Amino acid sequence: MRPSDILIVGGGMVGAALAMDLGRRGIPARVLEARPPEWPAADEPPRLRVSALNRRSIEYLQEIGAWSWLDQARVADFDEVVTWDISGEGRLSFTAAELGLDRLGVFVENQHLQAALLAAVGELQAVQLDAPAATLHIEPGENGPALSLEGEGLLEPGLVVAADGAMSPLRDAAGIGVWEGDYDQHAVVASVRPRPLAGRTTWQRFTPEGPQALLPLADGNASLVWYVKPAKARELLALSDKQFIHAVEDAFPSDLGLIDVLYDRGSFPIRRRHARRYWQGNLVLVGDSAHAIHPLAGQGVNLGLRDARDLAARIAEAHRKALPVAHSPMLAAYERARRPDNQLMQSTMSLFHWGFTAPLGPLARVRSAGLGLAGRGGWLKRRVLRYALEGR
Ligand SMILES: Cc1cc2nc3c(=O)[nH]c(=O)nc-3n(C[C@H](O)[C@H](O)[C@H](O)COP(=O)(O)OP(=O)(O)OC[C@H]3O[C@@H](n4cnc5c(N)ncnc54)[C@H](O)[C@@H]3O)c2cc1C
Repeated sequence: MRPSDILIVGGGMVGAALAMDLGRRGIPARVLEARPPEWPAADEPPRLRVSALNRRSIEYLQEIGAWSWLDQARVADFDEVVTWDISGEGRLSFTAAELGLDRLGVFVENQHLQAALLAAVGELQAVQLDAPAATLHIEPGENGPALSLEGEGLLEPGLVVAADGAMSPLRDAAGIGVWEGDYDQHAVVASVRPRPLAGRTTWQRFTPEGPQALLPLADGNASLVWYVKPAKARELLALSDKQFIHAVEDAFPSDLGLIDVLYDRGSFPIRRRHARRYWQGNLVLVGDSAHAIHPLAGQGVNLGLRDARDLAARIAEAHRKALPVAHSPMLAAYERARRPDNQLMQSTMSLFHWGFTAPLGPLARVRSAGLGLAGRGGWLKRRVLRYALEGR
């Protein structure tokens, strides 16, 4: 690779979006993605990992030319969000109609979005896509991690982008530490066919154990998310399918109805991580390698796409001015722009988590009253809405 080249390690949703953004501007880049893209077949049940994309992310995907690559039959619009607390009357509900919008956002399977992005990237002249890539060996070095690709040897790009996820080996090899914390919670996720079929409403009920949520997917299917203690997650996963269905139907609010088909289930430990630096030398972090947040409001990939958008615009600016591709003031400006936004979202999610998992009692009445108040309209509701739709 030449010193002017950009190497993106990780072609997940964020790395692939960044590659797309750079490539459409004619900026040379290479993407290494360990796994081959997996398109879900049209008649295949929904995959387990799904993401809510807010309006800002949808606009970004449209802007970089990736949106049209998605199979719209597997993209589910949602136009109502309802949130309430198990202990009280307070309900916060908002709809697209009251805002004069056609939808509030969409749910899409992660693998589908990733495959669409990689397919779009594969068409770009300026980007070389290796998916599946040969094994990348990463060694800590004096001037940042030394990278060598099996069968090719040492890679010496001008800029290395770590888009390699929350456990980022690149971040670790660079010696960039993280602030991290454990929520002592797992998200038990199930893809199901509910009865009645899921519509266009996504709901979340807070309980002292953690939230329970229904995310509507295409074709009436849904993704159920149940936040529980790690031991309970293990118990739930050890149940037979039939027992698991009963456990969910018993624990979830009647809004769920029944589960006709359980397609798949799994569990994910919930941790927060925030990198102490977003860049060092010629290495820069984007997406989950820089920050991982509690997923209760489904904002993780939305933040990552904003990292990609910001970084791509700054690289393009450096390119225009014929500055080095890892120009340090440019990377510092990227961190200054993105860290406060990511930090605010991470802290807000932690606040929600601690506030809503507190035992029932006086605090329960306060949070219930808070939801009721927010639900009645005015400034608070507008604020919550802006946060949900745009993440700011
Ligand atoms: C239960 C749960 C629910 C969630 N729900 C939502 C939601 O509703 N909305 C939302 O916005 N976010 C949600 N998130 C968060 C979201 O999934 C992450 O923020 C998002 O996946 C981060 O994308 P990424 O591209 O940064 O990292 P990843 O998705 O982790 O992608 C990293 C990629 O790098 C590749 N890779 C790693 N190392 C190498 C290497 N050495 N060589 C080549 N390739 C490599 C991997 O194969 C992978 O494809 C949720 C998270 C969880 C745990």
